[in-house]
Amino acid sequence: MSANSAKQGIPFVVAAPSGTGKTTVCRRVVERDGRISFSVSHTTRRKRNGEVEGRDYCFVDEPEFRRLVIESAFLEWAEYNAHLYGTSWKAIDRGLAGGRELLLEIEVQGARQVRARRSDARLIFLLPPSMEELERRLQGRGTDSAEEIRRRLEVANQELEAIGDFDYSVTNDDLKGCVANLLEIIRAEREGSVGELRERFSPVAAAEKFRGSRARKP
Ligand code: 5GP
Repeated sequence: MSANSAKQGIPFVVAAPSGTGKTTVCRRVVERDGRISFSVSHTTRRKRNGEVEGRDYCFVDEPEFRRLVIESAFLEWAEYNAHLYGTSWKAIDRGLAGGRELLLEIEVQGARQVRARRSDARLIFLLPPSMEELERRLQGRGTDSAEEIRRRLEVANQELEAIGDFDYSVTNDDLKGCVANLLEIIRAEREGSVGELRERFSPVAAAEKFRGSRARKP
């Protein structure tokens, strides 16, 4: 952790299986809470239409990314879909300065690295309502082949195994409710009064319920 950590706000990490609706949920949270902003990651993937350098990502090539890894510039980094993604210490220190908070919208391997390196981080796992609904949502996007959807569901299953490393789990069954729950968690953590929230949004209980919903299906 850096020397000025005393003045830093809380890093909130949101991870979820692909197709859970994480980006939409996170955007709404940042729009509605003026004290939290997005952490801007580095990535080796190509810029998509409408994306802006420095706002959506810092776009770098792989040699540059690898150089930053060697220099220990990243709090966490991971490979996802054949591209590299990472959160730099610079992004963290800048974003948390003066007690402001950051939202790290990252995948599960990266979230686990944050867990290991930042005891002040709060990790939130977004769950889809069910595996069947996740499959429906992935199909509904119309961007992936059947094989790609099968692969994403397999990855989602593996990601679920990590849910015990998280502090909270929130189910995205309805966007408005899910955003409200996240805002409630963020505000309570900020005020240091989480009360029964950890129980209400217990990742272990949520995982059991989720697995149960799968087990009941024929
Ligand atoms: P996309 O390419 O669609 O923007 O992102 C692909 C995946 O990479 C998403 O799950 C996103 O949350 C994750 N991601 C974005 N930035 C980072 C990062 O800095 N670190 C890690 N570990 N994952 C990231």
